[in-house]
Amino acid sequence: EPTKPHETPPLTRHTPQQESQVSSIFSRDYASELPTAVRGEGVYLYDADGKAYLDGMGSAGVVGIGHGRTEIYQALAAAGDKVPFAYSAQFTTPWQEEFGKSILSVAPKGIESVYFVSGGSEANETALKLARQYHLERGDTQRQKIISRWQSYHGVTIATLSLSGRTSWRAPYTPYMLPVIHIAPPYEYRCAYCKDKGGCTLDCADELERAINLEGPETVSAFFAETIVGTTASGLVPRPDYYKRIREICDRYGILFVADEVLAGYGRTGRPFAIQDWDVVPDMITCGKAIGSGYAPLGAVLINDKITNFFRESRKRFVHGFTYSGHPTSCFIGQQVFNIMSKEGLFTRAAEIGKHLHARLNALQQRHACIGEVRGRGLYGGVEFVADRATRAPFPAEMNFTSRLVSGMKERGVIIGGGVPGANFGQGGDHIQITPPFIVSEAEIDILVDALDDTIGAIA
Ligand code: PLP
Repeated sequence: EPTKPHETPPLTRHTPQQESQVSSIFSRDYASELPTAVRGEGVYLYDADGKAYLDGMGSAGVVGIGHGRTEIYQALAAAGDKVPFAYSAQFTTPWQEEFGKSILSVAPKGIESVYFVSGGSEANETALKLARQYHLERGDTQRQKIISRWQSYHGVTIATLSLSGRTSWRAPYTPYMLPVIHIAPPYEYRCAYCKDKGGCTLDCADELERAINLEGPETVSAFFAETIVGTTASGLVPRPDYYKRIREICDRYGILFVADEVLAGYGRTGRPFAIQDWDVVPDMITCGKAIGSGYAPLGAVLINDKITNFFRESRKRFVHGFTYSGHPTSCFIGQQVFNIMSKEGLFTRAAEIGKHLHARLNALQQRHACIGEVRGRGLYGGVEFVADRATRAPFPAEMNFTSRLVSGMKERGVIIGGGVPGANFGQGGDHIQITPPFIVSEAEIDILVDALDDTIGAIA
């Protein structure tokens, strides 16, 4: 019997599948069964069956201050009705102003303003567009090309995936990729330039200059780089003078340098911003993850004085803006996270506690021949696995080393991140990412590394 136009359709429109407890959520991966996380406390997550998981990945490098910090919700409840949503094209708010000043207080000197968004992809997309408009407004209209690096990850939107050098994620969408130019990453362990030369020769940085000249310097807008390469290669830390060289090259040709610190920034390396270890000030720093610590979706672009002052003084309108740019509740929560980070010394704690993580991982390398390299900085621990340490040959893809390692760890109640071989530049091996919350204790690191020891032993 067809429904008559004025009749309300029945409220319940469940399919038989939904009624039989099949998830209503479109899964990120229908090949795997996901447990239901119902609670978090400290470095632990708990599922609906009461199983505890040590969150050794900090939930994708997001959770810095730890799970279950109820003071955040209490502060929001106390302020609740005083934090309205106000559209950022029409209002600024005390919450984004306050949090903006807080972030700037720990940023490198020369960073002048902040543009708040809801995550890392949005931050990089914003930086890409701001770079373009900056050049346009100054009459440098040809500057539209972007250079980035292979084995990088800058986000999932079409523009930020185009920046990214993560071939497996780009593959289905190659028809939509923007023509971004990719150069070699600072991947000393597998670098074709410095192979057999006893260490990095900075040729990978000089490739930037070559690419700029090949493209025509007057056509290049910006260079994007993750300060420390994260998910696609697990913790590539360039040598101490790498970013000075990058800065010099960008300056020589009037190109903006954008440091992506969505994963590496905000305390992860033991500094508020990872680039502070290289003593270089980028034109923009993009942030996400730990700035909201998982308590609110939050990202930011930190913008230097040159760009800020140009827009400010010429009274330009940035032709951009998400509905949720500068979201008041997110900024309010960002400020609570900042307060906790400051009070508990979490912007720098990773430098100290990270020593224990790296000492334990280095010791593990002595025990397992399949560990080719241990890398990273602070509470970013990266491990690359190889079939043969002498030749650095990776495991064959069919072995599914990383996924077996990551799922073996999960069975043991420890979450880590993993990347697979099939890298773009040279041949990358399987690798894992260990990015626990900044509050992790030595004993918790021991639990994690002991589980890793056990799992590697079981599968290698
Ligand atoms: N940039 C880097 C370095 C990242 O690691 C990520 C996420 O993993 C992003 C950007 C994208 O951030 P989001 O997933 O919040 O959009």
